[in-house]
Amino acid sequence: AIDFKWIRDNKEAVETNIKNRNSNANLEAVLELYEDMVNLQKEVEGIREERNNVAKKMKGKLEPSERERLVEEGKNLKESLVTLEEDLVKLQDELQQVARSIPNMTHPDVPVGGEDSSAIRKKVVGCPREFSFPIKDHLQLGKDLDLMDFDSAAEVSGSKFFYLKNEAVLLEMALLNWTLSEVYSIDGTDQCLIGTAEIPVGGIHMDSILLESALPLKYVAFSHCFRTEAGAAGAATKGLYRVHQFSKAEMFVLCRPEDSESFHNELIQIEEDLFTSLGLHFKTLDMATSDLGAPAYRKFDIEAWMPGLGRYGEISSASNCTDYQSRRLGIRFRPSEPLQTGSKKGKANLPATKFVHTLNATACAVPRMMVCLLENYQQEDGSVVIPEPLRPFMGGVEVIKPKL
Ligand code: AMP
Repeated sequence: AIDFKWIRDNKEAVETNIKNRNSNANLEAVLELYEDMVNLQKEVEGIREERNNVAKKMKGKLEPSERERLVEEGKNLKESLVTLEEDLVKLQDELQQVARSIPNMTHPDVPVGGEDSSAIRKKVVGCPREFSFPIKDHLQLGKDLDLMDFDSAAEVSGSKFFYLKNEAVLLEMALLNWTLSEVYSIDGTDQCLIGTAEIPVGGIHMDSILLESALPLKYVAFSHCFRTEAGAAGAATKGLYRVHQFSKAEMFVLCRPEDSESFHNELIQIEEDLFTSLGLHFKTLDMATSDLGAPAYRKFDIEAWMPGLGRYGEISSASNCTDYQSRRLGIRFRPSEPLQTGSKKGKANLPATKFVHTLNATACAVPRMMVCLLENYQQEDGSVVIPEPLRPFMGGVEVIKPKL
């Protein structure tokens, strides 16, 4: 249910938005197809009306010749209707296809620009740790502490795959279990906070109408993530930073439109709380227009300091997608306004449905958290200290020591 009429009536703003976001969406093609579709719809409706008129006339008393003429006319009209309706369905499909490339509109505060430098720094927590000894990157630590095997993974699956070993296996489970336990307990309510393995959470409510009183719906879901990462190059592609398969706990919210901005802030707060608890140094960024994925109205990324890489690296991303996904998934809600006095209870008198807003945010993407933890918590003797909150989730392991 993309609002094409709105797009047509706000053509200039949509065009500017497409340009700002460096999107290759073809607005002209969309509007032309939309115009064609509207015309065809009118034509179809016109023929339907003619057919109804013919049917009406046939109910009356008629000369046999006149009746025969009307039967013939009705038959012809039906045939053209079938063809035109088929054309209409094709045109509607094509329109949906071409319109897919149009990105969401953008929050007015989002900085317009391309490179990372255009992002606005919203918050900085901590500062880079100073080391009094020569440091290793997570790859070297992984090798020295026998935590990762890239060679076997390369043989089995190719580059950018990995095996985790020994304490790293515990660390992955600890990160996820700790994150889920933290996120579950955030506001102490029983409001639909669930963990789910592989179902795309947005799809759960596809083509449905929720009650306003059921909102917000807040999820945290665990899943494996698969990425092609075609063309990604540079030092950051080594090791765990950019891999083809990884595990992630993701938060997802469905809410009323007027609440999405405050839920966006809440999600970022949760992320900041999680990363602060782990003692990471990071900055929160209000990402610039061309860094926003098509569904995002606004996106905040968190970048943490990775000493081995010698730079900040993205560890999480929180997007407010407003009604972009819900329009495409067909997720609406019915406002719980009181019925008008004197009106009969019935469907016709219910308040009109609206599209929900959706938001998503990374709670814990395991590989980059491992990069951060290993590189930031390394010690001079080659060991790695496990941050306090994760220890109970690792069977009490406090330090990963070099194997003898
Ligand atoms: P995204 O869903 O693309 O916004 O990514 C969410 C988070 O997943 C990022 O902030 C990273 O921490 C992590 N991530 C994304 N792509 C990869 C990858 N190829 N390898 C490892 N971690 C990734």
